[in-house]
Amino acid sequence: MNKIRGYLLNAAKNKKIEITESLVNIPDDKNLKLSQANNKLILILKDSSDTTLNGYALIPKKEYKLSDGDLIKIDENITYSVFYEQGKRKSLDNPPDQANKKMKIASIFKTAKASPAIKTAAKQGDGVWKKLRPNVIAYIPENIKETSKVASFDLDGTLIKTKSGKRFPVDENDWVLLFPNITEKLKEISEDFKLVLFTNQRGLHNADDKVNAFKVKVTNILEKLGLTFLVFISTDSDKYRKPSPGMWDLLKNVTEADVEESFYVGDAAGRPGNKKLKINKDHSLADRLFAQNVGLKFYTPEEYFLDAPKSTYDPPKFDPSKVETGVYTIDLPKTPEMILMVGSPASGKSTFCKKVLIPAGYVYVNRDTLKTAQACLNAVKKALQEKKSVVVDNTNPSEEARKQFVLCAKNFKVPCRAFVMDVNTDMARHNNKFRQFTENTHQQVNDIIIYTYFKNFVQPEKKEGIDEIKKIEFKLDFENSDVGKYYRKFFLEK
Ligand SMILES: [Mg+2]
Repeated sequence: MNKIRGYLLNAAKNKKIEITESLVNIPDDKNLKLSQANNKLILILKDSSDTTLNGYALIPKKEYKLSDGDLIKIDENITYSVFYEQGKRKSLDNPPDQANKKMKIASIFKTAKASPAIKTAAKQGDGVWKKLRPNVIAYIPENIKETSKVASFDLDGTLIKTKSGKRFPVDENDWVLLFPNITEKLKEISEDFKLVLFTNQRGLHNADDKVNAFKVKVTNILEKLGLTFLVFISTDSDKYRKPSPGMWDLLKNVTEADVEESFYVGDAAGRPGNKKLKINKDHSLADRLFAQNVGLKFYTPEEYFLDAPKSTYDPPKFDPSKVETGVYTIDLPKTPEMILMVGSPASGKSTFCKKVLIPAGYVYVNRDTLKTAQACLNAVKKALQEKKSVVVDNTNPSEEARKQFVLCAKNFKVPCRAFVMDVNTDMARHNNKFRQFTENTHQQVNDIIIYTYFKNFVQPEKKEGIDEIKKIEFKLDFENSDVGKYYRKFFLEK
């Protein structure tokens, strides 16, 4: 049998499972097996578990054909993406249980033929589904209540749970209202507030069939509640995905909304869980941090619907509000030297060079622009020959990466210093998202590159031939204070 050129990748752990044999066990879930047939990877689950494929629970013993870009989530910390080495990213398949049925629901945007889906949707208060951004879908009812008071809710785990009892839905019909009094509570609040749903649904990314099935699901839920909601659905990891505050800003484009008078309810609240009582810990802090980012009062579903006491929660690992503002003050010698910057992507190396070293006359050497290590080395030699100071703005994570440069400094008898950016994984990931959200031109660095950097990182030491190792604390220095305020929003989910 030919080997399929496909593999599974866990970005967070930088773990890759290559499919080298006809049958492979996935180590993190002994129930899972991968095989191959007709140039496709096939996933089979032996016994029931919480593992999902693109957000849908797997049915034991069933064969699932995997496509490029599919997500296999084993638990909160273990997600594998499917890659085919030759293949281009395709749209995701139908929900797994529908894969063989070829479910057909006409697009609600195309109104030519009235499929059952369209009829159901049309009953929902005669509103319209709109694509507000490439990755944000919204349902805007015709008559929005005239008030700036907003009662807003997450969907999964907040208003509904699965009917099947599985942790993740098996299809778009697999839901029931979370608590018996949900309808009554919402009816009550709708007297004075406009009702809004904010939901993250990355599984819908590039998957039109699933988007249509999800619209039907939402329509059915709202019909069951008998209430009018504005609905915002984020389908990607951009600035509209909670906890980032983007969906609230879109709401304000559509209708009046006052943060002070409004509130938000969600189950991703960072609650620690309780093993004795068999309560799982929350999968993230996305809802709590979304409310905090916007400035909304926040409740968990239990607090809001059941009047439960305020819950405790684990704070996020990285708090952007604690990052110091200021300017760098570094002593620089009058004689030539070499500085090796050391730091992950998005750790602020280039900004530091631009603010401190380039104005001081340092020749700037960077692999992104020069392309190869050899070209960098040539540029460094040229600068030192001309008796100029030089800075190498590469990630320089290991002794191996730094060696040639250190040697070069020795040959020219100039001191060599390493400036190590004091930025951890979460801060780098936050900075990376901040750039992605604020700079149109900035090429997004995949998180895996950041994780790989930290995995390979070896603290520089004097025994490598480096004369001084200096820690550089990351400092925020924004001329535009709105940008500074935005940096202090939470972008990571836990
Ligand atoms: Mg939820």
